[in-house]
Amino acid sequence: MIAKSLTTVAIIGGGPGGLATAIALSELPSFHVTLYEQSPEPREAGAGISLSTNAWKILDLLEASDGVKGGPQANTYQRNGHTGKVLRLQEQPENSAGDVRGSIRARRTRLQSALLARVLPDTIVYNKKLVSLESVPDGGVRLNFKDGTEVIPDLVVGADGIRSIVRRILFPNHELHFTGNTAWRVLIQKSSLTHIPDVTDATAWWWGQNGHVYFSDVDDETENPDPYFEITVRSYTEPEAPGLTVPWGISATNDKVASRVSKFDKRVRDAVAVVPEGHWREFAGYAGPRLERAFGSGATFAMEDGWILARALEEKRLSDSPIQGALDIFDRIRSPYYHKMYEHIDNNHDKMQQQTKLKTHNLDEFLQARVDNILGGNKDFIYKNDIRKVWEDYVTALAVEN
Ligand SMILES: Cc1cc2nc3c(=O)[nH]c(=O)nc-3n(C[C@H](O)[C@H](O)[C@H](O)COP(=O)(O)OP(=O)(O)OC[C@H]3O[C@@H](n4cnc5c(N)ncnc54)[C@H](O)[C@@H]3O)c2cc1C
Repeated sequence: MIAKSLTTVAIIGGGPGGLATAIALSELPSFHVTLYEQSPEPREAGAGISLSTNAWKILDLLEASDGVKGGPQANTYQRNGHTGKVLRLQEQPENSAGDVRGSIRARRTRLQSALLARVLPDTIVYNKKLVSLESVPDGGVRLNFKDGTEVIPDLVVGADGIRSIVRRILFPNHELHFTGNTAWRVLIQKSSLTHIPDVTDATAWWWGQNGHVYFSDVDDETENPDPYFEITVRSYTEPEAPGLTVPWGISATNDKVASRVSKFDKRVRDAVAVVPEGHWREFAGYAGPRLERAFGSGATFAMEDGWILARALEEKRLSDSPIQGALDIFDRIRSPYYHKMYEHIDNNHDKMQQQTKLKTHNLDEFLQARVDNILGGNKDFIYKNDIRKVWEDYVTALAVEN
């Protein structure tokens, strides 16, 4: 039984964003949180995930960092994927002045389990697929689930991923399109690859004309004597196959993945060929137009969003319009951040367009320019973002304004 004085919050989706929001809100006494997840049980598809200082900051705040271990990203090679020539070696990780734990690449399941362990019992309801939502006259929102049930919480948090039904209903004109960019990902025992030169020594990007291949540790070798290793093959020029081009991980054949690296260096082709049949998972990349109000992407952004929302709700809980007031604060903090990110992306994109003519004339120069471009620019505002400081700065600015 929920006392009337509690604000009820329904979170849709149990990915990093939904779980982080549930953890952050569960610390507030005046909120009752339920997370609805469509899957019948906890699960996480995909391979590895990169975590830097910004991720450690938010994971520490959620008290979820202890269980998150992975492979260090200290030395990263950027290579011409066709010849193997080293285009750049990053010996200093981007966040060398950041968190002492540095940048790591972790199995996505490690992140998911660490967050799940911090969610209060009975918060998550599995097998609950949201199919629609609508406003009700007294200001609440009715959520309708596939199993015929409904709830009317005070606040809904849409954390239901790239194909979000919440977003589709609230922003009906926001249509996703396939970007032509598809990733095939796998985790494989590192010991099965060590015979191939230069593949398992360090994190490496092998850049090709129309795609790239990424190799990385995902396990902390001090705790795992038989560590796993990630291979991601990306193609930027995939045709759309109606019904088959989907953003979640579906099975892909070895022949299909091999065909995308047929022009790559033998070391890449050999590594890809080691993967047992049936292990590759294919993820088609989708994107949509930008919204005027804040919404982000990336697991760390999603966790930061959840934490800031909790701070804003806490701040406004005694005000006349606690929910709208909190959402306004959320937008005021997060919208400028995402605008800055869009600017950064646009900048990179413009430079890349200028370099495209090199692609056919001088591939080596083109790949070098691409790497310089991707690694250029100061990205500290992303990878060293200290979300607690962001909140403290907001509170200070507010005190000055008043
Ligand atoms: C190939 C690939 C590589 C990536 N690599 C990185 C990386 O290295 N670093 C990084 O930060 N990010 C990476 N990302 C992005 C990252 O995966 C996402 O940004 C992140 O998972 C978003 O978290 P989320 O909680 O918002 O959504 P998701 O992780 O997508 O979780 C959404 C959840 O909602 C549930 N759900 C969906 N619809 C409904 C519904 N109707 N009802 C109930 N539940 C529902 C889903 O089952 C799922 O559990 C990558 C993405 C891809 C595809």
